[in-house]
Amino acid sequence: LVQLFRPLDLLGFVYRTIRQGLVDMAEMYRLIDAPVEVEDAPGAPALIVKRPSIIFDNVVFGYEPERTILHGLTFEVPAGSHVAIVGPSGAGKSTIARLLFRFYDPQKGRILIDGQDISRVAQQSLRSHIGIVPQDSVLFNDTIGYNIAYGREDASVEDIERASRAASIMPFIERLLDGFETEVGERGLKLSGGEKQRVAIARTLVKDPPILLLDEATSALDSRTEQDILRTLHKVSEHRTTLAIAHRLSTIADADRILVLDHGRLAETGTHRELLRKGELYAEMWARQQAEESEEETAPT
Ligand code: ATP
Repeated sequence: LVQLFRPLDLLGFVYRTIRQGLVDMAEMYRLIDAPVEVEDAPGAPALIVKRPSIIFDNVVFGYEPERTILHGLTFEVPAGSHVAIVGPSGAGKSTIARLLFRFYDPQKGRILIDGQDISRVAQQSLRSHIGIVPQDSVLFNDTIGYNIAYGREDASVEDIERASRAASIMPFIERLLDGFETEVGERGLKLSGGEKQRVAIARTLVKDPPILLLDEATSALDSRTEQDILRTLHKVSEHRTTLAIAHRLSTIADADRILVLDHGRLAETGTHRELLRKGELYAEMWARQQAEESEEETAPT
């Protein structure tokens, strides 16, 4: 019997590994358009993270050789701080996220996490240190418990419950007849945008990464749900190095530092107040969005 089960175990392992890879890719789907295989150097060591600082050191990058997207970008996200990247469409915000996740290597310059060049460490270890909360989360056709635990095969029931509480999805799960065993996805229970987002947050918490990459995590939600989720994300990102890509400036006004990217260059950096006081690109973007938001509020529905 044991002999019979071994290959099945192995198949199960391969299946789970592939499935996990697919979700990682799916989570990144907005961040990746055409993923290029980046190879590990032979014998590449694992990334060791004690103080998860991120440094972009003079990074030059283009998807095609004739079109440079990032023109020698330099910035630091100190360990434990919350940095937001904003800027007009096409400025290169998602490109920064893709480079940090190492879907591509820069043509020039280096990206360092805790002092280690990410192009020299094993990709899997790099990605295991970064949690992503994307704008649209992908759910498996499986139980809600599986969907929360998927990032860590060895997660205990307590781990899953703790993460669900911290992500404020526990009251919802407790109300379900089958609790964590409830099937979700295409053939199961359909979750709302906010509930899906909370599953993604719980999933990230189970993984417990030192670095968080938030990709405009609240854009698809109504404003009350958005405020709730923002509060949850705020708690989750405490003590973690957080890089947030944002379109809506109101969601990142309390970041420790805001990087304003324009055509692949840092146009300005500072806190929300500093940038407003400067009265340049950020202040213009802020004024425009405030006007748009108040127009939306008064518009007849
Ligand atoms: P948005 O706010 O609209 O999401 P963004 O600031 O995130 O924009 P990026 O997605 O980083 O911008 O894109 C920066 C530039 O890189 C754009 O001009 C885009 O056309 C180009 N680009 C993005 N992905 C690819 C790709 N896979 N191949 C070629 N060019 C790409």
